[in-house]
Amino acid sequence: SKRTGTRVFLACIHVNQYVLFLSSLSAVTLLDSMSALGDLGWEAYPAEGWEEISVMDERNIPMRTYQVCNVMEAYQNNWLRTRHIARDGAQRVYIEIKFTLRDCNSLPGVPGTCKETFNMFYYESNNVNQWYIKESNYIKIDTIAADESFTQVDVGDRVMKLNTEVRDISNLSKKGFYLAFQDLGACIALVSVRVFYKKCPLTVLNLAQFPDTVTGGDSALVEVRGVCVNASEEFEAPRMYCSADGGWLVPIGRCVCQPGYEEQMDVCQPCKPGFYKASAADAYCAKCPPHSSSHLERASECVCEKGFHRAETDPRSMSCTRPPSAPENAISTVNETCVTLEWSPPRDTGGRGDITYSIHCRKCSGENGKCSSCGSGVHFVPRQFGLSAAMVMVTDLQPHSNYSFTIESLNGVSDLSPSPRAAVMVNVTTSQTVSVVLKERRSKDSVTLAWQGPDRPSGAIVEYEVIYYEKNQREQNYTVLKTRSNVMTVDGLKPGTTYVFRVRARTPGGYGSYGGEIELETSHEDMLAIGDPNQSTILAVSIAGGIILLIFLVACFVVSGRHCGYIKAKQDPDEEKMQFQHGRVKLPGSKTYIDPHTYEDPNKAVRDFAKEIEASSIRIERVIGAGEFGEVCSGRLRLQGKREIYVAIKSLKAGYSDKQRRDFLSEASIMGQFDHPNIIRLEGVVTRCKPVMIITEFMENGSLDTFLKKHDGQFTVIQLVGMLRGIASGMKYLSDMGYVHRDLAARNILVNSNLVCKVSDFGLSRVLEDDPEAAYTTRGGKIPIRWTSPEAIAYRKFTSASDVWSYGIVMWEVVSYGERPYWEMSNQDVIKAIDEGYRLPAPMDCPVVLHQLMLDCWENGRSERPKFDQIVSTLDGLIRNPTKLQELANSSVWEDPTTPEFTVSTVEEWLEAIKMGQYKDNFSSAGYVTLDSVLYISIRNNAIHNAKIKPAITPLTPHMGKHLLIFN
Ligand code: AMP
Repeated sequence: SKRTGTRVFLACIHVNQYVLFLSSLSAVTLLDSMSALGDLGWEAYPAEGWEEISVMDERNIPMRTYQVCNVMEAYQNNWLRTRHIARDGAQRVYIEIKFTLRDCNSLPGVPGTCKETFNMFYYESNNVNQWYIKESNYIKIDTIAADESFTQVDVGDRVMKLNTEVRDISNLSKKGFYLAFQDLGACIALVSVRVFYKKCPLTVLNLAQFPDTVTGGDSALVEVRGVCVNASEEFEAPRMYCSADGGWLVPIGRCVCQPGYEEQMDVCQPCKPGFYKASAADAYCAKCPPHSSSHLERASECVCEKGFHRAETDPRSMSCTRPPSAPENAISTVNETCVTLEWSPPRDTGGRGDITYSIHCRKCSGENGKCSSCGSGVHFVPRQFGLSAAMVMVTDLQPHSNYSFTIESLNGVSDLSPSPRAAVMVNVTTSQTVSVVLKERRSKDSVTLAWQGPDRPSGAIVEYEVIYYEKNQREQNYTVLKTRSNVMTVDGLKPGTTYVFRVRARTPGGYGSYGGEIELETSHEDMLAIGDPNQSTILAVSIAGGIILLIFLVACFVVSGRHCGYIKAKQDPDEEKMQFQHGRVKLPGSKTYIDPHTYEDPNKAVRDFAKEIEASSIRIERVIGAGEFGEVCSGRLRLQGKREIYVAIKSLKAGYSDKQRRDFLSEASIMGQFDHPNIIRLEGVVTRCKPVMIITEFMENGSLDTFLKKHDGQFTVIQLVGMLRGIASGMKYLSDMGYVHRDLAARNILVNSNLVCKVSDFGLSRVLEDDPEAAYTTRGGKIPIRWTSPEAIAYRKFTSASDVWSYGIVMWEVVSYGERPYWEMSNQDVIKAIDEGYRLPAPMDCPVVLHQLMLDCWENGRSERPKFDQIVSTLDGLIRNPTKLQELANSSVWEDPTTPEFTVSTVEEWLEAIKMGQYKDNFSSAGYVTLDSVLYISIRNNAIHNAKIKPAITPLTPHMGKHLLIFN
């Protein structure tokens, strides 16, 4: 296998390449024999063994060495012991020795007892002056041999070759230790002994400072909390791990510059005058928006110019604005006692889009022209204040009266401005035709009504109209009668029944309003009651009251009808769901994603969420990929007042349609709403000149799937978990914002030079449409089947829980170094296998806990899958306690060298191979005669149930290679 023996070696190389990205390791020396000025004072026994000698090195500097060379005598056992070496808190120390060793063959006439090795021991002790240590109490570190450079004799001239060896001892716990060298008959010169331990050096990363940290013992990682640098604050608690080798691993969390400061070369610098930064979450100081300025450094907001204001809810990045000018072209349409006012919006909106209107009504007396407030009797439809449309209907005015209406325009900063509101005035005069019913005469089946004409008709009366209906019957079932006279007999009524009558007059100018309602009951017996003052009812009804009632009813009907429609729409559960999907429902404590589709004008979404960048500040350097809409290049961006940064530049190819431009820029409108270390950051867009471009941060290592394939087997499991943790953290952020990704896959994750993974690919149409992995489903949509949950494939139920399913697949891709999920199986077979309960097996060398987490993400029931915050905490737990990663899911098959690699070609052979030969008959009687059919055994199948077999992770067919789908 390509990933077995060499794995450890490669992982080590990798540690140097990718993880020790910080300054060089630091080491602290505990003992250095070369720097001793006088005698080393080490103890040697017996006396004729090791002896301390001063020699000159090649630069003529004296140095202390110990030598022994009793090669002519057998049975040597010469010990040399250092003084007590304090360990200074280190749990693991390194011993570097430099020595020369004579080749026995180069010494003429030496006996066979001559040795070419010596032993190195240590003894831990709290006693710094121990005068005697029993030989058997020493712990052996190693037998030391010279490497190839043995001492040689060359034409009578000795050629010295210095050997260097390094050994380490771990898990030290006492005050210190003694080192000892045992010679058993060799010719050795111990030139230098240096004892040291390693530290992870003080470093600053993501604006957090991590102190000098002593490494742990053995392979333990030491978790270190970072402290935010000056003028910064925690965004997510910064942590790193100090490895036993003195390198920093897996940076998590970060600090961000406080408001008024921006990050520059690992420090927070104050914003310059004219710039501001409102929130710690913003990356850089930005130029003060129009009509505002900041005169001092470190401004967290800019102050508005005189006459301009900022509403409380306005973002600090918005221009300062002012109240609008007056509405224009106001006109009135009078209909009796009802007036409709219409106008045009103000020419100057003050720079805002939240214009509303308020109406003030004054009634003016004809004689002296004095006006006073109309009071509460007048009604406004839809309302008097806060109108969003440029129209209002005013009802229940007094007839034949003069009114003056003032229409004010307002916006979000009108209340902040001391100047009077801009307004336009409209004067109107109402008219009315009034009818008063005076008399009535009733019989069993008829009623006679008489009435007086209006006081001041607006012209000659043409006719009267009488309407009537049975009381308690709906008004719609009414009858209309007309007459020129002001008396009318209505026949054909039911005896003993109450009717409602109303009368109105018509002049050449049209109908007047109805008079008040008159209720009359027909008699039970036939009797005459004309002019009887006792029986006739003189009705002096307030006509105005009747009119108010009728118009009010009509107005209410219109308004409430709309209102009901609105409420209903709001309550529609599907609507609610849709709103959630589109991120309209605010989650507690989180920012909310706004779907750019909900903008009528997509360009407005781009303006709201993406910063426009001058094309001249971009330098394109080379092509790095191809996107759906054009090339992807790398280059540099230098914005005024900021340091130059590397960026990726996506451009829209020439000859695009409007829709293509919209779709291309939708990615920026989405990306621009996110701000998270594991989400690709949008720097801005170029839309004012061609080509249209989207500028994002540059990710040096490109997409995760290609990156993993290129570095197959080169990462430690902690590093893989670190990457997965980053992706999960980005996805948690997206799901908290109510954004569903729908196309989470390793190919859509980008990796930077620090191995930080960031979620990318946020286009609207391109999600699924553009993905080469997406295939058409029976319902017509395009879906990347292998990454998608069953409910999303079956009925397009895309939720954060379906993103969790995809995340499980990404985990599998990462641990298998970019293997294709379900290998070469067809999409149809994948859907079928998942439906039958199969799940991807653990990739090679996959820790059990990681595979379990994948299986949890692939639960059929979407509520049973973990949420992204749970995934993040699970992975954090593993990073904190890496021993949990030691148990491998498939070690028995892949790691144990005693397990022979085998291939099988029949079901019987396979069962024999996995020691289940006794179930051959169950399999053949159930019809499983070929290996391929075994591959798709269902959990529901009787043969399996009867046989109580849970097919394990076992090599099955040559075609399947290393993996077999397992049951969930
Ligand atoms: P996309 O159109 O986003 O799928 O991008 C096409 C390819 O361009 C990707 O597969 C990456 O290899 C590369 N790419 C896109 N964005 C970046 C970036 N921010 N940094 C580095 N490479 C990128």
